[in-house]
Amino acid sequence: MFILILGAPGSGKGTQGKLLAERLGIPKIATGDILRAAVQKGTPLGRTAKSFMDAGNLVPDHIILDLIQAELATPAAADGGVLDGFPRTAAQAELVDRLLAARGHRLNHVLLLDVDETELVRRILDRARIEGRSDDTAEKAHQRLAVYQRDTAPLVAHYAPFGNLHRVPGMGTVDEIAREIKRVVGR
Ligand code: AMP
Repeated sequence: MFILILGAPGSGKGTQGKLLAERLGIPKIATGDILRAAVQKGTPLGRTAKSFMDAGNLVPDHIILDLIQAELATPAAADGGVLDGFPRTAAQAELVDRLLAARGHRLNHVLLLDVDETELVRRILDRARIEGRSDDTAEKAHQRLAVYQRDTAPLVAHYAPFGNLHRVPGMGTVDEIAREIKRVVGR
């Protein structure tokens, strides 16, 4: 089963994606985690990605499309995965659709975590204190939210016709939201 968790920065994608992946016994694939690890290791990918990430912008598609292709080709992701943080652009969505279709799969569920903007900023700043992420400052948070609205929110219209898009209220407790996701996914 392939599930996409879609939502603004701070909407809880990482937290809910982890719980969901553990429950279903499938990997969680997060491009943000992969990029942060690459930055930490100082790989060529990390060195290229860092300035975009630090500015709160998306890493360009010509880099991310290769990354997505490689991640979805790993044996671990052969039969399922929870996609966290990608696709984030129309080109990424088209690639994911195509790669899954080529293997007889599709996104079974697209979960849209719905959280209002004041709460998103509050959570991002909270996370900054806890995790010390370099892109979690107030100014970067607003930039990332603007980029989300511009580039990623339109994916809702991309997935709506597939009939598998569910809007999940993301304002409750971690447990409440996880329960709602379980209800929607059916397991
Ligand atoms: P995240 O942890 O998903 O919020 O990602 C942190 C940062 O990594 C983003 O602000 C982007 O700079 C970059 N990033 C992660 N995933 C993608 C993606 N699918 N496309 C472009 N940039 C990404």
